[in-house]
Amino acid sequence: MHMSKRYTITAALPYTNGPIHIGHLAGVYVPADIYSRYLRLTGNDVAFICGSDEHGVPITIKAKKEGVTPQDIVDKYHAIIKQSFVDFGISLDNYSRTTAKIHHDTAQEFFKTLYDKNEFVEEVTEQLYDEEANQFLADRFVTGTCPKCGNEEAYGDQCESCGSSLNATDLINPKSAITGNVPTLKETKHWFLPLNKHEEFLREWILKGHKKDWKPNVYGQVKSWIDDGLRPRAVTRDLDWGIPVPVEGGEGKVLYVWFDAPIGYISATKEWAEREGKNWEDYWKDEDTKLVHFIGKDNIVFHCIIFPSMLKAEGSYILPENVPANEFLNLEGQKLSTSKNWAVWLPDYLIDFPNQQDVLRYALTANAPETKDNDFTWKDFQARNNNELVAIFGNFINRVVVLTNKYYDGIIPEPSAYNAIDEETLAAVKAYPSVISSSIERYRFREASQELMNLARLGNKYLADEEPWKTIKTDEARTKTVMFVALQIASALAVLSEPFLPFTSEKLKGILNTDANNWESISTKDILIPAKHQIGKAELLFSKIEDAQIEAQLEKLIASKKANEAANKAVEPQKEEIAFEDFTKLDLRVGTILEAEKMPKTKKLLVLKVDTGIDTRTIVSGIAESFSPEEVIGKRVTVLVNLAPRKLRGVESQGMILMTEDQAGHLVFVNPDDTKDGVSNGLQIS
Ligand SMILES: [Zn+2]
Repeated sequence: MHMSKRYTITAALPYTNGPIHIGHLAGVYVPADIYSRYLRLTGNDVAFICGSDEHGVPITIKAKKEGVTPQDIVDKYHAIIKQSFVDFGISLDNYSRTTAKIHHDTAQEFFKTLYDKNEFVEEVTEQLYDEEANQFLADRFVTGTCPKCGNEEAYGDQCESCGSSLNATDLINPKSAITGNVPTLKETKHWFLPLNKHEEFLREWILKGHKKDWKPNVYGQVKSWIDDGLRPRAVTRDLDWGIPVPVEGGEGKVLYVWFDAPIGYISATKEWAEREGKNWEDYWKDEDTKLVHFIGKDNIVFHCIIFPSMLKAEGSYILPENVPANEFLNLEGQKLSTSKNWAVWLPDYLIDFPNQQDVLRYALTANAPETKDNDFTWKDFQARNNNELVAIFGNFINRVVVLTNKYYDGIIPEPSAYNAIDEETLAAVKAYPSVISSSIERYRFREASQELMNLARLGNKYLADEEPWKTIKTDEARTKTVMFVALQIASALAVLSEPFLPFTSEKLKGILNTDANNWESISTKDILIPAKHQIGKAELLFSKIEDAQIEAQLEKLIASKKANEAANKAVEPQKEEIAFEDFTKLDLRVGTILEAEKMPKTKKLLVLKVDTGIDTRTIVSGIAESFSPEEVIGKRVTVLVNLAPRKLRGVESQGMILMTEDQAGHLVFVNPDDTKDGVSNGLQIS
């Protein structure tokens, strides 16, 4: 097995406008972590790098909406995301952020180098402009119809429906995301990276050079972009949130977030190298270093075409060896969506399944969207845990540890001569490191995780066939040998499980009282854990997940779905026009509910006594399913007082209380705002 000496592994910079969910974990961070941990276990020098992507338009839009600064938004989510990575054992060597000074400096220097080398095309073009907001519109500030697929909600930088990378001016029927206005065109100067100039190099390097080793989904996307014809791509924007353009004429402009973000990998490496006393250039400029980008499929164009063109233009950097992008993970048959809250958020998962990070890591890996979009279901999650982690892996380890303690007080017994089955079993164990390596090195992590489980299966079968719990009564020597062999398998599992199940591996090493961590030694050494070695007591590695826990998760999702449906409820069209005189016929007053009781033998009706300012009157209202009588006493309300009285179940209702609905379909009162001085009952609403 030939190994490079040094690896730079990057994981897509998470966009800092929300926490991360299982789709991110499955698509990028778990595979990148498995790969990095594996490389370290096999003795390589690894820099595993990531950071928060903190510039760009959606963050400024979110900040505006929430009435805070963009910095407030990124500070909040940077902390949350960073913690999630720690919590889920993503073994990053550095988690940086693109608002860091080292990144601003690095990105500006990179831009300046390309500028000085004449690698940009400078052009005054007409860009979309929102006259009311007084702002140029690019990227997420503008939506419109995708010219390629007709999706009416494409953004100014990308169509999420067909994956096309777009310029804002490509959109048909563009609309400002700030004001909803139709934008005008206005002249502005920008710098463009002429991707067309790099087409030949990209064809040679990827289409010829990586036809065999890049994943077909990645290769196919890249090929179709190149065949489509590459065009110059603006690398600057008229915005105020971002990295200032460091050259003359760049005032009021910032680097396009997609120009600065991938440079974040470089600045995060610099930051780490400074801290660790290493030379960052070894990880980015040495031909012996392998650079691998882990990303989701929506980022392929940036990592396979734009960033390599930037690196090539700069001239002193290495290019990625591979970009093993994953497809998307769906959740219970639907696309994961942050805005629709259709997701399993990592902080929420940990509350509901404390200390069960490895279960999620395993379920996501065993079902990873490596070659096509895949579906995460809670039922599958439960089955992966109960039928594989508990019934196979956990069960094997538990039997080995319990029996060793029971028969030998936890001291590993001396084996006698092996029989053919022992020999075969130990030979099979020795084959696993290279089998799993081969899958990992080809970025087939689900296959690799299944091979790991096969090793646990082998252990289970060995014990079931050799039945030490029976031979203990008849053949002491044989029992010792069987337990010795089983302990070798347990020891191999402790090491080989580390990339996939890091928390479990650590716990298992604790139980076996070993710090073994050499991948290859499992193939080369005859004894992984020696006789006379003292192991610890049994502890459960995994526990069964009950149906009720799964039901609770499904109910959460159903609640999200209902809230979404309510939010997306079609707004009723406007009614027929009325004259002002018609409106003045309505006598609407501010009132207060004084008493309330349920109308006997009905579900919906409350009988209310309401102070209307004119009088105290009885009103029957159909709100009993949303409110208890106690809840509404004292409520300020709006009353239509001159509605003709009518009898409901024998009670005369003298007016109507105005109601509307919230997003979940609950009734809410339409009532006056509270002010310092208060609004008196009886005041007219006009
Ligand atoms: Zn499209």
